[in-house]
Amino acid sequence: MANLKLVNVTKIYNGKIKAVNNVNIFAGDGEFIVLVGPSGCGKTTILRMIAGLEEITEGELYIDDKLMNYIPPKDRDIAMVFQNYALYPHMTVFENMAFGLKLRKFSKNEINGRILKAAKILDLENYLNRKPRALSGGQMQRVALGRAIVRNPKIFLFDEPLSNLDAKLRVQMRTEISKLHNRLKSTMVYVTHDQTEAMTMGNKIVVLNNGEVQQIGKPMELYNHPVNKFVAGFIGSPAMNFINGKIINENMMKFIDDEGLFELILNDSQAVILKNYSGKNITLGFRPEDILISHDNNSFSITPEVVEPMGNETFIYFSIAHNPVVGRLNSKFNIKKGVKLNIKIDTQSLYFFDVDTKQNIFLTQQF
Ligand code: ATP
Repeated sequence: MANLKLVNVTKIYNGKIKAVNNVNIFAGDGEFIVLVGPSGCGKTTILRMIAGLEEITEGELYIDDKLMNYIPPKDRDIAMVFQNYALYPHMTVFENMAFGLKLRKFSKNEINGRILKAAKILDLENYLNRKPRALSGGQMQRVALGRAIVRNPKIFLFDEPLSNLDAKLRVQMRTEISKLHNRLKSTMVYVTHDQTEAMTMGNKIVVLNNGEVQQIGKPMELYNHPVNKFVAGFIGSPAMNFINGKIINENMMKFIDDEGLFELILNDSQAVILKNYSGKNITLGFRPEDILISHDNNSFSITPEVVEPMGNETFIYFSIAHNPVVGRLNSKFNIKKGVKLNIKIDTQSLYFFDVDTKQNIFLTQQF
């Protein structure tokens, strides 16, 4: 068990590629922290710097308040689980799990005890004599987890461990890793580009883009209070809708899109917060679930261009003033492609982003 701290950490490859820029992250003892972001945002580089596999260009890394920058990987007491499992093909499951312990000169009894315990937790007891090629992807990933567990490390690092598994197995392993965390209560850092994994697994999520931290918070904090347009668009599936437009003040404060085809009347609190934006360009954001079937005064007609039945809900794709929009509605509405319907946007749940800074205006103005 340990805490982990990255202070102003920067990584520059070959003197010119800035992969990670001035990152500050804290993971408390026993926390499950997820690093999430699009490809190339620096997630793996951060994980490799924590493991000691990559040198830190600037900044400090602490484990339990001890500076780690110059401690070799083998002395950091960290176990890493990789996307490609990295199992030794010529060794059995038992030998794969025993390998790291033998290197560290554990006694035979201790090795046996630890492996049997891990095999029980991971449901691998019947596979200990098999070689990796005789295992399914999910079983191989379990062995990779087992190899990390037996070491009883201070910190577990996971680098996209589920991306080679099919969708069903991925969901299953996701819950298994979460259960494992509940059981071991170790500090875990998990890298993924999949926002669903991040939302469902993390106690704390770090959203990264272009090597920089965008926001750190609990899953629902990020969902409900994204600090900027990037986080708003990245967290949530289907993603938040955006429409560019202007705030105007003609008797009442309104949002009007760039082409002047669509307008929304702001409520009193939105009007107060946005008063400095009157006459200025702004981006409106709203989540797919805040599109509601309605026939009241604020409703308007749309034509679904694509309809995706998901079972309990239906995703509809349509346009508002030439902007592509997605909505998620209850399947009971029986929506059909090409058949007009009346909707409104729940005006209690709007987001507004500064066009230049991309910041969430409600957060910057309110707090
Ligand atoms: P992915 O999800 O695709 O694995 P990532 O978020 O993990 O991406 P990194 O692998 O950390 O991103 O890469 C961050 C940036 O650093 C990328 O622009 C990448 O091209 C660059 N990079 C990574 N490793 C090296 C290297 N050894 N030498 C030079 N540039 C590198």
